[in-house]
Amino acid sequence: AMAPDVSAFTGHGATADGHPVALMANVGSGEEAQAAARGGAEGIGLLRTEFLFLGRAEAPSVDEQVAAYRGVMAAFPGRKVVVRTLDAGADKPLPFVTLEGEENPALGVRGLRTARRHPDILDAQLTAIAEAAAAETARVQVMAPMVATVEEAAAFVELCHRKGIATAGVMIETPAAAVSAPELLAAVDFASLGTNDLTQYTMAADRVVGELAELNDPWQPAVLRLIGTVGAAGATTRTPVGVCGEAGADPLLAVVLVGLGVSSLSMAVRALPRVAQRLGTVTLDECRRAAEEAVAASSPAEARARARAALGG
Ligand code: PEP
Ligand code: MG
Repeated sequence: AMAPDVSAFTGHGATADGHPVALMANVGSGEEAQAAARGGAEGIGLLRTEFLFLGRAEAPSVDEQVAAYRGVMAAFPGRKVVVRTLDAGADKPLPFVTLEGEENPALGVRGLRTARRHPDILDAQLTAIAEAAAAETARVQVMAPMVATVEEAAAFVELCHRKGIATAGVMIETPAAAVSAPELLAAVDFASLGTNDLTQYTMAADRVVGELAELNDPWQPAVLRLIGTVGAAGATTRTPVGVCGEAGADPLLAVVLVGLGVSSLSMAVRALPRVAQRLGTVTLDECRRAAEEAVAASSPAEARARARAALGG
């Protein structure tokens, strides 16, 4: 088979019938943001802010954070930049934030949960993001990782709004958040599915254990079904639902995700051209049919095969 023509990617993702699907980049530094802009990303769908905190004895100052966030935002003038608050813990330990010796760190004090002990760190980070956003033209949005309850989501969004951040949301990466989607989405301005963690928690299979890779697959019909629940709730509540896990980087799965109601996809920048190309060959109705087939499958292999067949092979 010939390689798809990826040169046609113009930086505006859409299906063949013109349904827009924002195609954005996951980045973890200012340099990566510049590379993402050069690579045609429409915006940043996930800025992992851990880069500022790793390898230090204490949190960076507000001024230092402002400078770093401005560096990222400046790469996308007038474009969307979604900043995720510190996601320490589990696979991203941080001495001055996370607990040592947790028996089950993936189920422990990670992500937004670290703000229970260290509300000052979250507060300073939001102050810095708001200040950086005010100085740049990027359309800045903020989201929290590892949210499990509607209460956590509502409190986070309220805190962001109080800090002058107009658009605030949460990641949906726990089954509890996904199952609560109708109520949770009503409490936020947007949500972003973290399919890496959502898959690990849904399948109860640690994402760092290679032996469990077969379970740790976003094509698992149970995972797709949960994503569909969130997509449907997004439509009902008119809340944008994106994906920022690596699932969006698989062109066929990207089609299925759009069919499940996802309106933006954020991924490693190198994956953007192929995903853009694949989406441009299918209509929204075809995405929906592929999604219906995949969700009704009983294994990842069957889900892939049925999605492919629904699109004509
Ligand atoms: C995810 O969990 O899908 C995600 C995007 O976040 P991270 O991979 O940083 O945990
Ligand atoms: Mg995650």
